[in-house]
Amino acid sequence: MKRLLFISYLAIMQLDLHAQADRWQQKVNYQMDIQVDASANKFTGKQKLDYWNNSPDTLKVLYFHLYWNAFQPGSMMDLRSQEIGKRLIRGRADWDPRVKDRISSLKPDEIGYQKVKNLKVNGLVQKISLYETILKVELSKPILPRSKSLIELEFDAQVPVQIRRSGRDNAEGVRFSMAQWYPKLCEYDEQGWHPTPYIAREFYGVWGDFEVNINIDRKYVIAATGYLQNAHEIGHGYEINSPIPFKPSKTSTLTWKFKAPNVHDFVWAADPDYIHNSKTVRKGLVLHSFYKIDTASLKKQFESQPIRMRQAANLYGFIASYKSQWDSVLELAARALPFIDKHYGEYPYKQYSFIQGGDGGMEYPMATLLKGAGTGVVIHEWMHSWFQMMLGTNESLYPWMDEGFTSFAEANVNNFLNGNIDSFPHLDAYNAYIALSKSDYNEPLTTHSDHYNTNTAYSTNAYSKGEVFMEQLGYIVGSAVRDSILLKYFNTWKFKHPNVNDFMKIAEQTSGLQLDWYKDFFVNTSKTIDYGIDSLWDEGGQMKIRLRNYGSMPMPIDLEFQFKDGSVEHAYIPQYLMFGSKMNENPKIKRTIGEPWKWTHPTYTISIDRRLIDLKKIEIDPGKRMADGERRNNKLELTW
Ligand SMILES: [Zn+2]
Repeated sequence: MKRLLFISYLAIMQLDLHAQADRWQQKVNYQMDIQVDASANKFTGKQKLDYWNNSPDTLKVLYFHLYWNAFQPGSMMDLRSQEIGKRLIRGRADWDPRVKDRISSLKPDEIGYQKVKNLKVNGLVQKISLYETILKVELSKPILPRSKSLIELEFDAQVPVQIRRSGRDNAEGVRFSMAQWYPKLCEYDEQGWHPTPYIAREFYGVWGDFEVNINIDRKYVIAATGYLQNAHEIGHGYEINSPIPFKPSKTSTLTWKFKAPNVHDFVWAADPDYIHNSKTVRKGLVLHSFYKIDTASLKKQFESQPIRMRQAANLYGFIASYKSQWDSVLELAARALPFIDKHYGEYPYKQYSFIQGGDGGMEYPMATLLKGAGTGVVIHEWMHSWFQMMLGTNESLYPWMDEGFTSFAEANVNNFLNGNIDSFPHLDAYNAYIALSKSDYNEPLTTHSDHYNTNTAYSTNAYSKGEVFMEQLGYIVGSAVRDSILLKYFNTWKFKHPNVNDFMKIAEQTSGLQLDWYKDFFVNTSKTIDYGIDSLWDEGGQMKIRLRNYGSMPMPIDLEFQFKDGSVEHAYIPQYLMFGSKMNENPKIKRTIGEPWKWTHPTYTISIDRRLIDLKKIEIDPGKRMADGERRNNKLELTW
């Protein structure tokens, strides 16, 4: 009896495991002690890393990111930006306006650096070599498969002047925006090491637990990825959520103790004048916001607006509306949360912080650095908690899987917040993608994010084509099925490193349709879609419609007929490569299903049990979810 029970328990375990992603991944626990000399813009750090090599491979080297070395004249980031700036797109230099050639003129006390010393693995000092933003460690003893190692190192760093994402004294006057600030172990996965130099963009890290202790001048308020462990000693607005009564210390510096479980990065920011708001939005989840009112920078912002665009009559009005926007961030996030949880998976951490800092909007675990607090950027960055911070895709290889999926969710969340007044909130993304697909600087979605020839192609592909990918998937499998795919994707791959194949497999399993062709055409190439109506005629008591594929990528076809008597009918032509049909998305409307369209065949004729004389209008994909580059041939209105 006992044995039998044991077997059935095993069977249940296996079932359970089956629903999980079945891939090994590395793990690292960081323990860091940081001493900040705020007036010198420098700090020193000690790192202790517990590193689990869960791979079946023997590791002979380790790699670390030293991102801040990019902020030095002549760096790869500097040259890359200057080269891209030579290209004009629509009459404008294509470089990132925040970077331009600014790195080239940084003075020694303005550059960024991270210098590592005394790097030991399991107690033995290791040979290290510096490749600008990547540190290579040649191990004196290899790290064996499925083993744990202790890595220790010390480092010195100088906070660069704010150039990109991190730095000091940004345009809003925030003292320290501390992103990519520590020697960060590169990820090793089933594709091997990813020592991606910091040239422009995108991140990838090892999952693990962070314990970060930061010692800094007591006047600074710190906002960070982690949960503050000693709020009762710190105060600065954290004491209200502390179970231990606040007992301020009298020392000239404070040591802030943070812990962040199961994340792949750690960000923090610090300023003496941060206004700190917090809000408990449900049991066990506190949202925070940190911002400052820097009158000088706000005055600059106010005066740089064209007079006719000024929303406020004077500087005081401008500051008041700025403040109220920041003060309503937590309310906005709380309002969006139930919709987000329901559609994209439940937010599992105990904290999230909207932090003023950096130079735009940039996502980190449990936090974002924001320039301003507009709804679009606030929701966008928060959605990155799902797409990248929990679904930890390699952004360099699949930037569209975080930026595109995030933009897709952002559009839907914003539409929800606006009362769903927009029937198609993805139109801008479609227009941007289609314009790119017709331009001479188009590149396939598989391009490494640092390798795009232009910033324009990178951003349109990553954000817009990625968003189109997801909305168009709803066209192929049905929107409701696409929504289930997203939830299943979250539940299967959260806290892991999914790639495009993992997503496609979930999409196939959930929809019951074959979808490899969608990846092969839409992701792996820059082929484009264009279907059109070729001709219509009556034959044998039926109406015949011949369609033509003018494009280079196949798709299934939704057709809508409007008749003179006011009735509407649909026809659906599955793409042969799907080996099946999507469910009827509008069961109230009669739908004729045609034979599958073989993609090798340029034309296709469908028969409908109506007469041509009764027809008023016919349209391919009236919902416009298919990214058809030429819509004029999709529609035919008959005037008899
Ligand atoms: Zn983004």
